[in-house]
Amino acid sequence: MKPDYAVCHYAEIGLKGKNRRFFEDRLKENIKEGLKTRCPGAHQFVKRIHNRILIKLTEKGEEFLDDIAEVLKNTFGIAYFAFVRESKQEMEALKDDCIEILSDLTFDSFRITARRGDHSIPLKTQQMNEVVGAHVLEHLGKKVNLGSPDLTCYIDLVQTYAFIYTQKIRSKGGLPVGVSGKVVAMVSGGIDSPVASYYAMKRGATVIFLHFHSVPYTTRASIEKVREIILVLNRFQLRARLFLVELAPIQEEIMMKTNAKLRVILYRRFMFRIAEMIAGNEGAHAIVTGESLGQVASQTLDNMEVIERVTKIPILRPLIGFDKQEIINLAKVIETYEISIQPDQDCCSLFVPKHPAIKGRIDDVTEAERVLEIEPLVQKAVQTAEVEVID
Ligand code: ATP
Ligand code: MG
Repeated sequence: MKPDYAVCHYAEIGLKGKNRRFFEDRLKENIKEGLKTRCPGAHQFVKRIHNRILIKLTEKGEEFLDDIAEVLKNTFGIAYFAFVRESKQEMEALKDDCIEILSDLTFDSFRITARRGDHSIPLKTQQMNEVVGAHVLEHLGKKVNLGSPDLTCYIDLVQTYAFIYTQKIRSKGGLPVGVSGKVVAMVSGGIDSPVASYYAMKRGATVIFLHFHSVPYTTRASIEKVREIILVLNRFQLRARLFLVELAPIQEEIMMKTNAKLRVILYRRFMFRIAEMIAGNEGAHAIVTGESLGQVASQTLDNMEVIERVTKIPILRPLIGFDKQEIINLAKVIETYEISIQPDQDCCSLFVPKHPAIKGRIDDVTEAERVLEIEPLVQKAVQTAEVEVID
């Protein structure tokens, strides 16, 4: 079947009351941009109709169905979509068009599932099911099976449109990127933070990425990895900004002036301060990390509390309840895993002992920080950050 449109259905977006229009417009724009980037020339227009986003395909659109499907599967906010043929809101046309579409397909049993967008449409769904079903039965000699048919032929009447299709394609759900505002995601190049960033996007956040490195004490490998990871995550967001911040000058200060046991905690307090300042400059309202409870020394509740005390904005930890293996499985699904497991050098392990404190006490930490010039160090780190646009 040569489809005329792709029709996208959303789930949760429909619950948003007054904000509904805002959500729908964002979804429409995100779809448009995805299509423009990934398969230019495949669509004529994208528009909002009752509870759906409608994508009119071009004459050439048929050549791009896989690419279009890829875009729609990666656009958050879509629950499912279908490639549809346009028909008319009259019984004879529906009967003929269903026969034409179904005669190309292989199946033994079928059912017709008609639906109408609202009750102003005069055709009744049960009547459409029966009349069109009988027509298919008669002309194609197939069996009706309402319980578990080989094929379901959907007839969807909405506004002035009539659509026919046989396949619903599942998408990822979530909310359109952008509707929840901006967040700063701290990404290390490890396995966890890309997955955490994915979940922030999935709930509608525009993610700004922030990576700390310790060049020249470490190689630039982690920077390269983060760039590659963002390219992969751009499937969901299309373009992203990456802040690269030098942690080494701060680490040198910490190394020279403080007790080795607390260094990881001190590094991380600086990372959060810097993240918060960047968030403020960028109009972002939260920091996202890939932390999960109890995974490593810095992720005990005690240490999280001591670390997070330096910031005021919310710290979101989408992976808090996941086991490592679950995170690995998710990283494979979103295709960041293979990049994350490439070797690099972690900035947090620079100048730190084998057994860092797992229960950092706030008094010890603030005492240790008294010898550091916190504000200037943070400001310098933010001012000298490199910013890249990745698209
Ligand atoms: P990941 O797999 O994301 O590296 P991890 O299990 O190695 O996480 P940690 O090293 O304790 O855990 O880091 C916890 C979180 O802190 C990371 O998920 C990330 O959000 C942030 N983080 C750690 N290192 C960096 C870095 N170099 N740059 C930016 N953020 C970082
Ligand atoms: Mg790590």
